[in-house]
Amino acid sequence: MKKANGPVKDFSHIKAVIEDHIASTTSDLKLDFDNTEKTFSHLSDGELKRSARLFSLMNKAWLTNILSPLGMISVKYGLPGAEWIMKKTIYSQFVGGTSLLAAEPAIRELYRRRVSSVLDYGAEAKNEEEDFNFVMKEIMKGVEFAARNEAVPVVVAKISSMARNKLLEAFQQEDYDYTPEMRTEYTSLQKRLNAICNLAAKLGVKIFFDAEESWIQDTLDKLVTKLMERYNKEKVIVYNTFQLYRHDRLDYLINSHEKARREGYLLGAKLVRGAYMNKERERAAELGYSSPIQPNIEATHKDFNTAIRYCLDHYEELASCNASHNRESVELQARLIEERGLPRNHDHLNFCQLYGMSDNLTFNLAEAGYNVAKYLVYGPVTEVTPYLIRRAQENSSVTGDVGRELGMIRKELKRRGL
Ligand SMILES: Cc1cc2nc3c(=O)[nH]c(=O)nc-3n(C[C@H](O)[C@H](O)[C@H](O)COP(=O)(O)OP(=O)(O)OC[C@H]3O[C@@H](n4cnc5c(N)ncnc54)[C@H](O)[C@@H]3O)c2cc1C
Repeated sequence: MKKANGPVKDFSHIKAVIEDHIASTTSDLKLDFDNTEKTFSHLSDGELKRSARLFSLMNKAWLTNILSPLGMISVKYGLPGAEWIMKKTIYSQFVGGTSLLAAEPAIRELYRRRVSSVLDYGAEAKNEEEDFNFVMKEIMKGVEFAARNEAVPVVVAKISSMARNKLLEAFQQEDYDYTPEMRTEYTSLQKRLNAICNLAAKLGVKIFFDAEESWIQDTLDKLVTKLMERYNKEKVIVYNTFQLYRHDRLDYLINSHEKARREGYLLGAKLVRGAYMNKERERAAELGYSSPIQPNIEATHKDFNTAIRYCLDHYEELASCNASHNRESVELQARLIEERGLPRNHDHLNFCQLYGMSDNLTFNLAEAGYNVAKYLVYGPVTEVTPYLIRRAQENSSVTGDVGRELGMIRKELKRRGL
């Protein structure tokens, strides 16, 4: 994932080494996602054992469900030792650091292995103007930091951390009777998002807008589409996210692309399966509307992989990021790139995994010369805890991530004779 333009200060020596390596070796590099020796070469025996303990714990859904709320309350109310325990366990596995500065060693270590970082300030939903502006400033600091670091081509923005959920929900309902205050609030949100994207465009940094719950997603789509219209004329600065666990999103991806083509801008598309499945189904059942989620996991996989094919078919005018830990989906994109003879490091063809997860995919893709990045969450423990708890619960309930991760770690422990 290359930067669109902008100054480069750090990491240039590492970049030269990487480019040399890619130029000389990629053509015959094969992907080997089972190679645990390569995957975990950056971890000491102690660190590997610590990861094994953590993933074993997360693999027990009932335990995670008991410990998660306890962890949340303990950190929130500053109980003695709570922050320390959090930092020593789940935080150090999944978070880059408490600040941008503290995350730099993690960024550098990833880049040494040819992996870029996507900066994600770990703030969850907020409720006050003051907090919204604070988050906007943090994201803008991230954009400035990215502009100075070749290793960081993208910064994440989560819109619900910059506006009230109730406002986003209200603006989704066409017949809602908005008060003048609500209109002012909405205009303030638009100004925040515009300030971020304007700075990003000036500095040549890309912005990934996360996808969220379906009852606010139409509003997010409207906002992000406006930003794409404005900033994606020449190159792709703004990316929207498409959740293929929704049965209507493949069509929406195609419609978004057709609209962009008609109106003369480029589409940025981050593809995910989706993180809020249980919440979506529960709410639909409770309020008696039909669930937006696919009928089964096979349907999700099918649409996700069709979306990958679609993005590859139109890669010249559609920049995509395959944001997934699913091995088949990653292999599919790598295979299509090979079959079509496209450059593995084409700026419009990207992969991304979360920091602390699926290193076997990330490091192997990087070594073979594909554009791959880690979503690197950073922020103070209190701020990031809700994100971490969500990750732990999601992982143990709806995805196969933890089991997969644990299997790989155990294999490597065995190989090392530990
Ligand atoms: C870099 C990155 C960025 C992300 N950004 C976002 C984001 O902006 N918004 C967001 O919502 N999520 C986001 N996610 C999370 C993502 O949506 C998934 O929850 C997570 O990655 C697991 O999916 P997977 O593709 O890795 O594959 P797998 O682990 O193979 O698939 C698990 C996923 O399949 C789906 N699924 C499981 N069971 C069923 C079922 N019975 N019926 C239908 N579907 C089912 C669910 O989406 C589940 O998460 C992101 C993930 C990554 C790696």
